[in-house]
Amino acid sequence: MAWDFSTDPAMQEQLDWVDEFVREECEPLDYVIPHPRDMRDPVRQELIPPLQDKVRAQGMWSAHLPPEYGGQGYGYVRLALIEELLGRSSSAPNVFGCQSPDSGNAQIIARYGTDEQREAYLEPLLQGRLVSCFSATEPQGGADPTLFTTHAELDGDEWVINGEKWFSSGLEYCAFAIVMAVTEPDNPPHSRMSMFLVPTTTPGINILRNVAVGIGEETGIHAHVRYEDVRVPRESLLGPRGRAFEVMQTRMGHARLALATRSLGQMRRALDLMAERAVSRHTKGEPLARKQLVQEHIAEAWLEYETFRLLVLRTAWKLDQLHEDYKAARGDISAVKIMLPRVMQSIGWHAAQIHGSLGVSHDMPFIHMVNAAVNFGVADGPTEVHKVTLAREALRDARPAPGMFPTFHLPERQAQAAQKYRAVLERYDRVPG
Ligand SMILES: Cc1cc2nc3c(=O)[nH]c(=O)nc-3n(C[C@H](O)[C@H](O)[C@H](O)COP(=O)(O)OP(=O)(O)OC[C@H]3O[C@@H](n4cnc5c(N)ncnc54)[C@H](O)[C@@H]3O)c2cc1C
Repeated sequence: MAWDFSTDPAMQEQLDWVDEFVREECEPLDYVIPHPRDMRDPVRQELIPPLQDKVRAQGMWSAHLPPEYGGQGYGYVRLALIEELLGRSSSAPNVFGCQSPDSGNAQIIARYGTDEQREAYLEPLLQGRLVSCFSATEPQGGADPTLFTTHAELDGDEWVINGEKWFSSGLEYCAFAIVMAVTEPDNPPHSRMSMFLVPTTTPGINILRNVAVGIGEETGIHAHVRYEDVRVPRESLLGPRGRAFEVMQTRMGHARLALATRSLGQMRRALDLMAERAVSRHTKGEPLARKQLVQEHIAEAWLEYETFRLLVLRTAWKLDQLHEDYKAARGDISAVKIMLPRVMQSIGWHAAQIHGSLGVSHDMPFIHMVNAAVNFGVADGPTEVHKVTLAREALRDARPAPGMFPTFHLPERQAQAAQKYRAVLERYDRVPG
């Protein structure tokens, strides 16, 4: 039987362990550690590594990677079920060794890195000894990478990188960055750029400022950075020359799905809080849960959450079937990416609304959900661009109608049916005039 929405008992046992561990050990960290990837924070360094050891002992470390790279080889559906639980806590992905953008960066290095690069960058990354940055977007344009101008030239045995990047998240506390730069200016637009592994201690990496996003975020982490004569060895090239687009796609499939699966955890929590509030708060002599318009908020939020969850899990299942062939699943991944901000914003709003003034305050997580939804509509490709991708995939097999009218033109269908059943219709005197 191909259709099965159940979880096998052994996996369910693991999920139950993750669920409890996230609630008991990770969620409290969120209130004392502002940036869980920032290893300069002594509180982070004291609290997170011992929990990482417990996750390793449980066999849940870096679940997104195949076993040959120290991961669990769970596949996408199992990974989605795990990440949905991790999504309840901003610290949990770090505790489980699958935080963004490190998880995607690790996938790139695992796939395209040389043995030396894997040893120098992948292994410490997988051991949780350092964190990394992805430095692609530029001030003049992010959605269209063909506009990027940061360039790298070979000078003897060194690449020299010059240019500006924008929203290089976490750069100031990362050990290295994967930098996208033009190396073949005369090639067609999609084969002009290459990827580089650049240690952040390299002279010439000058952070102009860190940009803040979100409500109440005081210190931004999204670097506007200038690379000024940054010299790295020739061997720092990651993947083939001119193939940065292909390399970038490696991380996008999982990154976009992970964004969605983790958000499911926050949506589920909002639904639970809505239900609790509806039966706790009274107005006009009865609990909110008895008001039909409040029931509508709850029903709408439930529908949005459950249908989105099915789309996410089906996409994960498809990636498993396709053996991670992101190209074959790109329409599905784009569909998830389009729906994510819509559903996140809507559920955040429903939940805030029925919590009243408390709901819109910083005491509850709902306004942060609405704010995160705006980020999700932009980061990892704007919604508009994903709609174009989805439409292109949906149109891929479309063919022009053979005649003047569409294939399902009713008069023609009726005439064909009348012809097919003519003998019967004649007996009952029902042949159309
Ligand atoms: C929280 C956050 C973290 C990020 N972290 C990183 C990071 O670590 N590393 C990194 O390199 N980048 C990062 N980014 C940048 C992100 O990848 C870019 O914001 C994204 O690619 C869009 O680029 P842009 O911001 O320059 O918007 P633009 O390209 O200027 O687009 C602006 C708007 O124009 C519209 N638009 C754009 N293209 C089209 C189109 N083809 N059709 C119709 N409408 C269109 C959309 O409404 C879009 O939102 C991050 C962004 C956010 C919000």
